[in-house]
Amino acid sequence: MKQKNTATTSQKQDFITLANNILDQHKLKKTALRRSIIYTFMENKSKSLTQANLIDHLSDMITAFDRASIYRNLAHLKDAGILHEVEANNYVFCSHDCSSHAHLLLYCQKCNKHSEVKDHNKISNFMTALDGFKFYGKKKPIFLKGVCKPCTAKM
Ligand SMILES: [Zn+2]
Ligand SMILES: [Zn+2]
Ligand SMILES: [Zn+2]
Repeated sequence: MKQKNTATTSQKQDFITLANNILDQHKLKKTALRRSIIYTFMENKSKSLTQANLIDHLSDMITAFDRASIYRNLAHLKDAGILHEVEANNYVFCSHDCSSHAHLLLYCQKCNKHSEVKDHNKISNFMTALDGFKFYGKKKPIFLKGVCKPCTAKM
């Protein structure tokens, strides 16, 4: 099932500019496919996407691509820290491009949304609570599964 592209033309232009900046910042080659992958993640915000979801989304935008190159590019973007792999072959866009701490992602098991903790004080309090337990490598996020605030309110 294809989802409708809801971004307006100016939003789309912003996303493309942003995607180019992100690729530049990470010193990655700017290719149409990479731009489109980043664009699709931005458009879907907190939702996680699998390789199959991406192929479905991109089928409108790109004509000549194969599954293998999507998969390769997902791996590149993950290695660069642009995407986080929340489960096997299930990715979210990193919404806090920062390399000074481990990335902390909260996953809601009710609505399947992910959010990233961006407040440095909260992150450092959390790390302190772990009492010296270290996470090496800025590209290795910490995932916490539970129920988000809006979903808790509905329970
Ligand atoms: Zn992140
Ligand atoms: Zn940060
Ligand atoms: Zn939720």
